Amino acid sequence: MRTKVWYPYQQMQKQEQFPIVQEAHGCTLHLENGTQLVDAVSSWWCVIHGYNHPEINNAIKDQLDKVSHVMMGGISNAPAEALADKLIEITPDGLNHVFFSDSGSVGVEVALKMAIQYHHNKGKDKKHFIALNKAYHGDTFKTMEVGDDPCYHGAFKHLFDSRTYIKPPYGWPSDQITQSIDQLKNQITEHKDQIAGFIVEPLLQGAGGFRIYDPEFLNQAYQLCKEADILMIFDEVATGFGRTGKLFAAEHCNFTPDIMILSKALTAGYIGHAATLATDTVFESFYGKSDANALMHGPTFSGNPLACATALKSIEIFERDQYLDRITEIETKINKAFDTINHPNIKAKRVLGACGAIEVFEDVQLKGFQNFAMERGVWMRPFEEYVYLMPPYLISDEELEKVLGVLKEWFG
Ligand SMILES: *Cc1c(COP(=O)(O)O)cnc(C)c1O
Repeated sequence: MRTKVWYPYQQMQKQEQFPIVQEAHGCTLHLENGTQLVDAVSSWWCVIHGYNHPEINNAIKDQLDKVSHVMMGGISNAPAEALADKLIEITPDGLNHVFFSDSGSVGVEVALKMAIQYHHNKGKDKKHFIALNKAYHGDTFKTMEVGDDPCYHGAFKHLFDSRTYIKPPYGWPSDQITQSIDQLKNQITEHKDQIAGFIVEPLLQGAGGFRIYDPEFLNQAYQLCKEADILMIFDEVATGFGRTGKLFAAEHCNFTPDIMILSKALTAGYIGHAATLATDTVFESFYGKSDANALMHGPTFSGNPLACATALKSIEIFERDQYLDRITEIETKINKAFDTINHPNIKAKRVLGACGAIEVFEDVQLKGFQNFAMERGVWMRPFEEYVYLMPPYLISDEELEKVLGVLKEWFG
């Protein structure tokens, strides 16, 4: 349909007007036509507390009455300063500097710029990045370049030169670590003077098909990168804030990445924002007398007080209500249900933390699934060969059963 709104990732000819969400409460979306849907995917993985959470609503209202926005040039604001402190406290040791921007893609762009300029400031012109097979890091130009998705970014492939992807050791534990490390080693030996950084979605690749891989690979990769002065960049836009069973996926590893990006669940689906964190070593290369060494990036909404107040309240609730315990329960329930789901169309089942995915052999095998789920009161949207759930952590046992029941019935 030739609608006025041009929807993202959508072949518009295939699409009727999207249904309109009028309200949302808890984990339920209320559509204009009266339909109610349990949101099994947290609105693209960010609404971790569900919708209309009274405490977060109030935190935003309080902040709204103080100041809703102020520029970050020359002046700052209390929620941004407090959020930086909090993020430094809860992220792995050594990430002591926080740059705020307004979306995951921009947060990754900033990380990539940081990495290139880190080397530039030290007199080296390194400009390439190594990434992983099936990587997804966003839809802006440089993030597309480090992504590995012909379906998303095919029209722009010819713009990117010399892209290098390493196949991570899929599965956890995996017996493929040596192969992956050897591949990385070869790349580093051949191109180390050009490689600025190695960017990964740690442990769990999201848009590339919810693929889980062995963190021991990252431990060994980090040592190789360190020796070659290649920065290790963790894109935790999807994995951050509990999704993999720990607060950050980095906690499954035995080192601190040089740069880490947070977004999506950072602001719990209320207001777009991102944080790019860096170690002292990275920060120090920008620090000095020359303006030319400064990080020249400045999103208009950097450190927006409403977004930062939201993030602070979200983290407070996450800690206070011991969400990590609930995430373990969700993981157990998904595992239990997945054990009972078996069908010849199923190629793989993957569960990590509060994420469960089923991969089929061909995308047509999921045709009609979205409507099937909607008719049963569940919002779940497969793409390519994957159908998945990444529920809000506040999902009730009954709601989770309902979601898992839809999968059982479809594959039944
Ligand atoms: C969603 C996502 C991004 C991009 O975030 P946007 O806010 O959509 O720009 C980047 N990296 C990963 C791993 C993501 O899942």
